[in-house]
Amino acid sequence: MIIDAGHGGFDPGTMGKYTKEKDVVLTVALKLGRYINQYLPDVKVIYTRTTDEFVTLKGRPKIANDNEGDVFISVHANSLPEDTSEKRKSVIYGTETYVMGAQNTGRNLEVAKRENSVILLEEDYEKEYDFDPNSPESAILFSLTQSAFQDKSILLATKIEDQFKRRAGRKSLGVKQSSLYVLWSTAMPSVLVEIGFLSNPKEEKELNDPSIQGNIASGIFRAFRDYKNEIESLN
Ligand SMILES: [Zn+2]
Repeated sequence: MIIDAGHGGFDPGTMGKYTKEKDVVLTVALKLGRYINQYLPDVKVIYTRTTDEFVTLKGRPKIANDNEGDVFISVHANSLPEDTSEKRKSVIYGTETYVMGAQNTGRNLEVAKRENSVILLEEDYEKEYDFDPNSPESAILFSLTQSAFQDKSILLATKIEDQFKRRAGRKSLGVKQSSLYVLWSTAMPSVLVEIGFLSNPKEEKELNDPSIQGNIASGIFRAFRDYKNEIESLN
């Protein structure tokens, strides 16, 4: 399985008051990998990064495909736009897990634009990507390479949000669809997990708590284990 910690290096991702997305998501991604190595030793874990380094948005699915991964899990953290009122920031929190989708509305579009926008930090992005992450039109021009894997992606995403809600003590905002570049070209079931909102002061604090990071990682681990058992029982 491929574990993709979002952002890294000169791309910090979104920022809380004192937290960079790239740091918390790497911590959770490494904890997730350790759970899998420990409890599912037959599963080979490949990381897109294990240190604070920059990996292009195109490079991530490439690592997944080159290693013939059978599941791709991308770990990210959420935030509301900067101009959101402190009052609203204090009431919006929780997890959401994304699968690839062509339709973007409201906050799903905001998430797509934010998570795709790293492309603009890359050199030669116009040459590399036939895609402008700031335009809603290009966000919906994604073809559905992922559609062949959609049922499995949704199954895994549902199990992750279920674990967050029932076992990890998180508030689940559910499974959503969005046109996220990093999910677009992976040839395997793929999900992007937003583990919480760094724009919410309480959740920012929680996401820095090692025991809560462990709960989140073990929630994703249990969801993956259950998903794997279910898929294997069908074969
Ligand atoms: Zn992100």
